[in-house]
Amino acid sequence: MKKLIPLILSSLLLVTSFTGCGNRVTNEYYDAHFFGFDTYITLRFAKEDADGKAISEEYLKNTADECAAILNDIDLLLSAHNEDSQIYALNREINMMVDSSGELLSVLDTAYTISELTNGAYDPTLGDLVELWNVSDGGPVPEDVEIMESLLHTGTDKIVVKGNTISKVDSLTKIDFGGVGKGYATQELLKYLSTTDIPYGLVSLGGNIGVFGTKEDGETYKVGIKDPNDPEGIIGYLYLSNGFLSVSGDYERYFEEDGVRYHHIIDPVTGYPAESGLRSVACVSSNGAAADALSTALFVMGEEEALKLYEDGTLVFEAIFVTDANEIILTDGLMKNGSFELTNDNYTIFGAPAENN
Ligand code: AMP
Ligand code: MG
Repeated sequence: MKKLIPLILSSLLLVTSFTGCGNRVTNEYYDAHFFGFDTYITLRFAKEDADGKAISEEYLKNTADECAAILNDIDLLLSAHNEDSQIYALNREINMMVDSSGELLSVLDTAYTISELTNGAYDPTLGDLVELWNVSDGGPVPEDVEIMESLLHTGTDKIVVKGNTISKVDSLTKIDFGGVGKGYATQELLKYLSTTDIPYGLVSLGGNIGVFGTKEDGETYKVGIKDPNDPEGIIGYLYLSNGFLSVSGDYERYFEEDGVRYHHIIDPVTGYPAESGLRSVACVSSNGAAADALSTALFVMGEEEALKLYEDGTLVFEAIFVTDANEIILTDGLMKNGSFELTNDNYTIFGAPAENN
C-alpha cells in the first residue's frame, strides 16, 4: 500500500487548483495527497455522510488507501513504462493477449471510439513514437527517418480485437494509453467511491478531475485552469458540479532544443508535436476516459476542427480552448451557463462561432 504523503497546498495549484465555491472555509473535507500514476493525486472527501453524521477518520483514511490500491492495479494494467504491466508485455513480449477481466478491452474500446470520431487525432498506437521522442526525459529530437519508420507501425488497424482477445497485426506496434489512462482511472475511482459512505467530493489526477455526489446546497467546485504562459498561474476558473474535466496542454511536458519547444502531444499524421495553434484544451464530459482522450484529440485537431466536432453533436462535451494568440474560446454550453470566469487580463474570451454567426 502506498503511503499518503501530504503536500503543501500551493503545489496543488501547479496541477489544477480547486476550492469550494463561495466563502465557506469549513472543516467539510478530508484531503489526501500523494504521488502515483506518474502524477500528483488529490482525493477530497466530504467528512459527513448523507445524514449529516461525522465519518470516522479511519474510514476516510481506509477509503483513500483503497483508492491508492485501485490506482496501483490500473497502473499494472495500462502503464507503458511499468515493466510489470499488461501493456508493457503486449508492447514488447507478446503479440496476443486474452483479457478475461475485460478491463483492458473497455479502455481500448473508448480509445478506439474516440480515435475513430476524431479521424485519428487521438491514436492509442503511438507508443513507439512516444518512446522515440522521449519528451519526459528531455529528447533529443529524433531524425526524420526515425519518425517516418515509426509512423509505419501506428494506426488502430494494427491492433485487432476479437471477442476478448487483443492481437497485434504488426509486432512493432506499441500501445500508449498516456492520453486516456488518467481519465479512465479517475472514472474508476468515482465508481468505487459511489459504493462508500462518502456522499460527495472529488478526485484529481494530474490534469484530470472527477466530481462525485451532489452537495445539498448545490455548491459547485471552482477549478483553476492553468495559464499555458505561466503554469503556476491560472487564466480563470471553471465551475464544475459533476462529471469529469481533463486538460491537455503543451506546457505539461516538453523539452527545448535550439530554442524550440517540443511538447508531448503528437500529431499522428506528421509524427511531430502537434502545432494546431492551441496551447491547451480543457474538456468536460460525463465519461472520464472520453474526456481525457478527447482533450488530447481536440488539442491535435485545433480550434476549427474541434468546434466542428462539438457542433456535430456525436460526442457530447464542453471545452475551453486557449490559443497561442492568448484567446480563450468557450463552447456554447459553457458560454451560456457562465461556467467559466476569466481572471487573467492577458487573455480575451471569444464566443464560439455559433454565437457570432
Ligand atoms: P494528455 O496529457 O492527456 O493530452 O496525453 C498526452 C500523452 O498521451 C502523451 O504523453 C503520450 O503518452 C500520449 N499521446 C501523445 N500524443 C497522442 C495522440 N495524438 N493520441 C493519443 N495519445 C497521445
Ligand atoms: Mg488526454
